[in-house]
Amino acid sequence: MSDLLANLNPEQLAAVTLPDESALILAGAGSGKTRVLTTRIAWLIQTGQISPNGVLAVTFTNKAAREMVARLEAMLPINTRGMWIGTFHGLCNRMLRAHYRDAGLPQTFQILDTADQLSAVKRLMKGLNVDDEKYPPKNVVYFINNAKEQGLRPAQVEATDSFNRKLVELYEAYDAQCQREGVVDFAELLLRCYELLTMSAPLRAHYQNRFRHVLVDEFQDTNRLQYAWLKLLAGEHNAVFAVGDDDQSIYAFRGANVGNMADFEREFRVRHLIKLEQNYRSHGFILDAANELISNNSRRLGKNLRTDAGHGEPVRVYEAATDTQEASFIVEEIRALLNQGLSRSEVAILYRSNAQSRVIEHTLVNVGLPYRVYGGLRFFERQEVKHALAYLRLIDNPNDDTAFVRVVNFPARGIGARSLEQLADAARLYQCSMAAAVPYTTGKAGSSLGAFVKLIERMRAETLPLSLPETVEYVIRESGLIAHYETEREGEDRIENLRELINAAAAFVGEQGYGLNAPARVIAMAPNATDAPQIDVGGLQILDADTPVADVMTPLSGFLSHASLEAGDNQAQAGQDAIQLMTVHAAKGLEFTVVFITGLEEGLFPHENSAVDPDGLEEERRLMYVAITRAKERLYISFTQSRMLHGQTRYNVRSRFLEELPETSLKWLTPKADAGARWGGRSDNAGWGRDWFGRPGGDEARGYGRGSGGGNGNGGGDRYVGSSGSGRRGADDAYTGNTPLPAYANKQRAAETGFRVGQPVFHTKFGEGTITALEGAGDDARAQVNFRRNGQKWLALAVAKLQPIED
Ligand code: ATP
Ligand code: MG
Repeated sequence: MSDLLANLNPEQLAAVTLPDESALILAGAGSGKTRVLTTRIAWLIQTGQISPNGVLAVTFTNKAAREMVARLEAMLPINTRGMWIGTFHGLCNRMLRAHYRDAGLPQTFQILDTADQLSAVKRLMKGLNVDDEKYPPKNVVYFINNAKEQGLRPAQVEATDSFNRKLVELYEAYDAQCQREGVVDFAELLLRCYELLTMSAPLRAHYQNRFRHVLVDEFQDTNRLQYAWLKLLAGEHNAVFAVGDDDQSIYAFRGANVGNMADFEREFRVRHLIKLEQNYRSHGFILDAANELISNNSRRLGKNLRTDAGHGEPVRVYEAATDTQEASFIVEEIRALLNQGLSRSEVAILYRSNAQSRVIEHTLVNVGLPYRVYGGLRFFERQEVKHALAYLRLIDNPNDDTAFVRVVNFPARGIGARSLEQLADAARLYQCSMAAAVPYTTGKAGSSLGAFVKLIERMRAETLPLSLPETVEYVIRESGLIAHYETEREGEDRIENLRELINAAAAFVGEQGYGLNAPARVIAMAPNATDAPQIDVGGLQILDADTPVADVMTPLSGFLSHASLEAGDNQAQAGQDAIQLMTVHAAKGLEFTVVFITGLEEGLFPHENSAVDPDGLEEERRLMYVAITRAKERLYISFTQSRMLHGQTRYNVRSRFLEELPETSLKWLTPKADAGARWGGRSDNAGWGRDWFGRPGGDEARGYGRGSGGGNGNGGGDRYVGSSGSGRRGADDAYTGNTPLPAYANKQRAAETGFRVGQPVFHTKFGEGTITALEGAGDDARAQVNFRRNGQKWLALAVAKLQPIED
């Protein structure tokens, strides 16, 4: 046996061949966690303990899933098609497709990606006349997703004041709107699937019987709902094999919960906790730097990394005068490396915030070096592609109002905002989708809208016999999109992308085994699975274990899901031979020969929004740990004295993280200035945006930047946290429209501060109000108060002297 196990070290071998029970592999970066997980699947199959269909494996991205499948194929002569390997979202989508009726969804339900969800919420709020200054739509989206990720439906969300009650109302209205339109957002995929399994005992039993082995990569970044879903699937008897690294937990801002690891150990009665301490990725100095840095975190489960690779080169540190100079330095170094024979895709440039990439890109363009930026707009997120997808969605499901609004007047058909408002009113009045409300509109608007609905109906009829690629081709032509972009000055690229969509469709049907000519809207039984369709479980017709995806989704529905889920992927895609640019978040799980980490400046990395909060700071440090551990052989860390960001020059102090690295593993390429002289320096004109938490800008909340500007994205393509600040700033600035922190965080804070959410308080300047959120601890504790006369404000408790009043 096996070549499979030949190259594993003893700990890895032990992990791969653990007995049939739940286990936790807790190990640092580059120690082979992902490799162990994949090898275990292969080993379980090879030794006959399980069939490929009995495995359910959760990966962090769709790309990681594809890689895992490819590796399995290389290791074993098995048919991997139909194996349940994917992201939480992808797997839930698949289950919901198979059981759409039980889940209360239309067969052709569509998935809203992040951008779609935001526009759906905006449309909803407009219809309900909700003040979008007081309730910025991004905050509303966050509130909704946050509730869903805690498994809460509107009726279960506790609302303590009118502000929150409004949010809950919006959540409820949004859910109703989605249901009417037959669409689900990312969080809903999970919640709906969880509810489906909770409610239906036969279904639950079926899947529990099927998936004897459940394996999860990047376990540290699962949220509560994902954890609950896993628990449900595992039931009493199945083995969950979780691999993760608490030091790489970087999605707390999105609800991930490292506490899941401790719960997992207890609730799954884990007897086997294996640590892998041998690192196969990075040279010694790089690893020393990572180990030393992360040792500054207090809440750790405790482990270390060692390597046999030798010290290698020290970590190079560079101080630039400006961001432009930083970029020039990086590009010069890269050119020298390429001359030595390194290939471009072996080089990654990482940054904390998306906005940092512009200057680097500019410099790369100037010297003609091909590069690729990840975490920006992906193929399926591009305007023209989304337009084409919207037509396809309407063909599949005419009630999808998000798609309807997107293309009803694109290309222009003389349908103005007024007409659309009227239509939306009618849809509300008759409780139906906008397409269905068209007959209720009159006049010129009515006839233009009627013509659009007819166009879609004609498309639906005429594409019926067509294959998926033919359908796409038909739609981009008949919709007028191609003709439209032909008249646009820079439309060529867009037309190229539309044509690429045909290729993507062809590739999709090929990969999924639908057959290139299968009609796009008929569920196609894959040739080798005709004998395995429906079975009867407790009166429910459900799909048998061996049924591949091709048998539960039409090619069109499958493709549309694929497009939405890809758009939601938070990670880099397959690389051409180009320099790789991405946020640190997007680099998770990846490795490169040479890595540049840029912008090691206070306020940027650690990010200003997090630096004042101990938990936030530890998360930033983990992020830096992730960044460092991406490097195999050479690592550069750079920072600048000044930087232009969001239209303002910022003068910087170098990051505290640099002080936390062991001097012995560093090599300063520029003289090391005395930190003391520079700390507390000139950062007072900082223009850092805030994330939507709308952390305070008022004088009583210390430590936050003033000025204006957009916020910094939290990571490539992050799903739930808006990347633009929206508040006003300055002294006494009341930041209205904050959504409170998650309820569980509030409960914790309440105990520490003596205040609780919902408590009436008095402030000498602002008067009476109610606490709507609490965060931070000790000297950093802050409260968000909704003042009766002065609106929402964040106040630092150590300074503000809030007095509780009896309620
Ligand atoms: P991360 O925490 O960053 O996700 P990881 O723990 O998942 O890292 P892998 O990506 O599985 O680590 O492995 C890191 C690198 O080490 C890969 O290139 C992998 O092929 C290699 N590797 C892992 N185990 C061994 C081994 N026993 N022998 C040789 N190379 C190995
Ligand atoms: Mg990994």
